[in-house]
Amino acid sequence: MPSNDFIPINTFIPRFEAAQAREAAARPNPLPEPPPQSGPTAPKAAPVEGVKGSDAGKDLLVMVLGAVTVLAVAAAIYWLVEFVGYPFHAQMMWLVFPIGAPICGLVAGAGFWLALRQFHRRPQTSTYVAAAVAGVLGYVLIYFLMWWFLESQGVRVRDEVGFVEFMQFVMENQRVRHSGSGGEGAELGQWGYAQFAINVAGFAAGILVMVQAGGNKTFCPRCKRYFRKVGKQSRSSTNPEATAAALHPVIHGFRVGRIQEAVQLHADFGTPGNREYWTTTITVEACTGCGLHLATLEAAIKDNQGSRPVPGFFFRGVTLQAVRFPA
Ligand SMILES: [Zn+2]
Repeated sequence: MPSNDFIPINTFIPRFEAAQAREAAARPNPLPEPPPQSGPTAPKAAPVEGVKGSDAGKDLLVMVLGAVTVLAVAAAIYWLVEFVGYPFHAQMMWLVFPIGAPICGLVAGAGFWLALRQFHRRPQTSTYVAAAVAGVLGYVLIYFLMWWFLESQGVRVRDEVGFVEFMQFVMENQRVRHSGSGGEGAELGQWGYAQFAINVAGFAAGILVMVQAGGNKTFCPRCKRYFRKVGKQSRSSTNPEATAAALHPVIHGFRVGRIQEAVQLHADFGTPGNREYWTTTITVEACTGCGLHLATLEAAIKDNQGSRPVPGFFFRGVTLQAVRFPA
C-alpha cells in the first residue's frame, strides 16, 4: 500500500492501534542489545557556573531588574506617545476592554522574564507582588512624565497645578471617539477613573503574564536551573501500519531510557516536518547542571479544524547520556 493513500480520519487511529498491538506481540524487545559501552556520558555536574549568591539575593535582583525595566519602558511609552501624538497605551475597545495597556505591559515585563531565566529563579509570590506594584507605578509614571514636561504657552503646567489635580483633570476630561465618527466625541467624566483603573490593571496584567511565562519552563529542582533545549524533531506519515512499525522501537527506547537510539530511529521514519496526516514530535531538554536529559514524544493529527494532539499518545523518557539530533 503506498504511504500516501488517503486515510479517512476515523480509520487511522484504529488501524494504528491494531498494528501497534501486533508489533508489541511480535517484537517485545525491538531494540538491539546495547553495546557494552554505550555512548558518551553527558558532561557531569561540573561546578554549576553562573550566578553565585543566595536564592533570596537572586530573587531580589530579579525584582529590581524587572521593576527597573518596567519603569524604563514606561518612560519610553511616554516618549513614543508624545512622538506619535496618540495615546496608544490607553487604547480600549468598546470603552471597557484594554488593548494598548496589556500589550505595553507585555513589553514592560520583558525584564522580569529575562532576569528569571538568566538567574535561574522561579517566580515567587514576592516576584508577582513586585511585578504588580511596578506595573501600577509604571503606568502612573507615564502620566507623571506628561505632567512634568507639559508646557502651555511657555508656562510649565507643573508650576501651576499639582500632579493629583492634573490626574483628576486628565481622567475627567478624556474624550472618546468611536472609530468612524469624527467629531469631538463624548466626555467620560467619572467613567474616566474606571477606565484609568482598567488600564492600570491591564498594564500590570501584561507584566504578570511575562513573569508567569518566565517560570513556565522545565526546571531542575536539584540544580536549581532551567533546562536547556537540546533539540526537536518532527516526522509525519499517512500510513498507520508503517507508523506503528516505526514508532514501536522508538516508544520502547523512551521506556528504557535509550533516547539517542529512539531519536535516530525516529529520524528515519516518515517525512520530515508535519505535512502528512499523523505527526510525531520528539523534544529533548537537558539540565546543564546534572546532565539529566528529559525527552518527550507526542503525536498530532490533522483534521478540518487543523492540528490537534492525539489523546493518550504521550511518552517521557530520561537519560543521563548525551543526546544528539541528526542534522
Ligand atoms: Zn540538574
